[in-house]
Amino acid sequence: LPPVIAIDGPTASGKGTVASLVAKKLGFHYLDSGALYRLVALGSQKASIEPQNGPELGILAKKLVISFKNGQILLNSEDVTDAIRTESIGLRASAIAVHPEVRQALVGVQHGFRVAPGLVADGRDMASVIFPDAVLKIFLTATAEARAERRYKQLIAKGISAKLEHLLHDLQERDARDSSRGTAPLLVADGAEVLETSELSIDQAVKTVLDWYQS
Ligand code: C5P
Repeated sequence: LPPVIAIDGPTASGKGTVASLVAKKLGFHYLDSGALYRLVALGSQKASIEPQNGPELGILAKKLVISFKNGQILLNSEDVTDAIRTESIGLRASAIAVHPEVRQALVGVQHGFRVAPGLVADGRDMASVIFPDAVLKIFLTATAEARAERRYKQLIAKGISAKLEHLLHDLQERDARDSSRGTAPLLVADGAEVLETSELSIDQAVKTVLDWYQS
């Protein structure tokens, strides 16, 4: 099987940016597993399924037609690239991600990304559950304050108004839920290296991952 680099970490830690740059450098495929949970969140909102309804959400997750093409994300052939990035969809994603039925429905999709010459996968349970045989496991993190500030700058740069204290609050709420849930909680997997990025630039973080991979 092609090699996998698993990068897990909390929301807004920069793992997506780092993972996609590492994939580019190595010529590997890239899996943004959080996008899958966001797609189920959006799909369930459109279908008016309650975030508490695990069985219905599981059925929906199996039926969704998802495709990633040239940086675009399609849900049942509709372009939802921007629609899944809102804070409200992020919160809903974290609510629906607690259901084993949802997590189970997405296992096969995630394994499907493991194609030669290799894969960089980012999420919460890449190293622990989805790709336990990953050649390199990284827990990429930063303080909640550093992460809130990064998200704030991203939103402002896009012309979206935001309040730093609201972002920090949402982020802490999501961290608490992601860490304490019974199924696939966010944790440092066995054998994972911790990469603390509060004081690192993106380039430094990418270089560290590549160095670890090549050593
Ligand atoms: O990483 P991102 O913020 O896009 O993920 C949205 C939500 O999806 C997370 O808060 C988390 O609850 C859930 N998720 C998950 N397992 C993953 C990736 C994301 O439970 N592998």
